[in-house]
Amino acid sequence: MIEVRNVFKHYGNVTALDDVSFTVNEGEIVGFLGPNGAGKSTMMNIVTGYLSSTSGEASVCGIDVLENPDEAKKKIGFLPEQPPLYREMKVSEYLNFVYELKKCTLNRKAHLDEIMAVTKIAGVKDRLIGNLSKGYRQRVGIAQALVGNPPVMIFDEPTVGLDPKQIIEIRNLIRNLGKNHTVVLSTHILPEVQSVCDRILIINEGRLIADEKTENVARAAASDRKYTVKVAGPRRDVLRELRALGGVRFAEDTGDGDADGAVFAVEAERGIDIRKQMFNMLAAKGWPIMELTPRGMSLEEVFVMITDEDERRRNAPERRAGKE
Ligand code: ADP
Ligand code: MG
Repeated sequence: MIEVRNVFKHYGNVTALDDVSFTVNEGEIVGFLGPNGAGKSTMMNIVTGYLSSTSGEASVCGIDVLENPDEAKKKIGFLPEQPPLYREMKVSEYLNFVYELKKCTLNRKAHLDEIMAVTKIAGVKDRLIGNLSKGYRQRVGIAQALVGNPPVMIFDEPTVGLDPKQIIEIRNLIRNLGKNHTVVLSTHILPEVQSVCDRILIINEGRLIADEKTENVARAAASDRKYTVKVAGPRRDVLRELRALGGVRFAEDTGDGDADGAVFAVEAERGIDIRKQMFNMLAAKGWPIMELTPRGMSLEEVFVMITDEDERRRNAPERRAGKE
């Protein structure tokens, strides 16, 4: 449905996109996740034909976006970061305006009524856009994207600036649209991709650093690399020995505990199960484990882990030596 191949984008000497390639299949809801400045908007503006890439290819429904931007745009409903709303227009007036702009041929009244029903804005159709709450304005922005019933919907940070209730409503709306559209959205909020998307593309400093099914990211987040362990033993000595244990990346005294023991946070190196060594070491010292609880990782921590690894890889001396 969407094909992006080796896209680069330079703004002067800023590299906003650095060799980005990905595919989005029909029916998927894909999330573009990355911190501010990562290149999300640049990517979306290129896919939607609003910005040209420095090099590389992008196509939507088999139509090359650079060669045929007008044809490609017909396949895409786009909600840009700054939706093109006219504050002095009434909602219904605006949607009629967009209908004409897009040269839509569907039955006008039936089509616009359906869009207003789906986005739940029928009740405000005679209000001025400028007088609507941010949440309603965002619905109008989504409504304009739906005019013409394009198969692909692209939303750039659709929930930014909304309050928690509005965020939930917009996420539900996008999930519903995902039932009969291919959807790409960008966000810098991890729980958003987790709650809405089937797949996550993580972008950092213009580079795509992960392309994973959401369930896999969630599974990684739940993996048993972090524990809290309650040990009946002298705090300082236990901490020292935990830190010295092979496979332990990090250990710290949480300060918690009770008469049973002191509570420590322990994190294993990637791919290492430290439970046996930890048990054996503490048993040998005569400090029994009173409790052992896997902590899992928050999605935030997974994100930091992936971006850190990417940075480490890029800064690795052998790579630099090889490149230069
Ligand atoms: P995101 O949407 O992920 O926050 P952007 O795509 O807006 O990221 O920006 C990516 C990078 O490109 C940033 O470093 C940003 O400062 C830069 N950038 C974006 N647009 C322009 C522009 N028109 N001129 C110069 N630099 C830009
Ligand atoms: Mg942006």
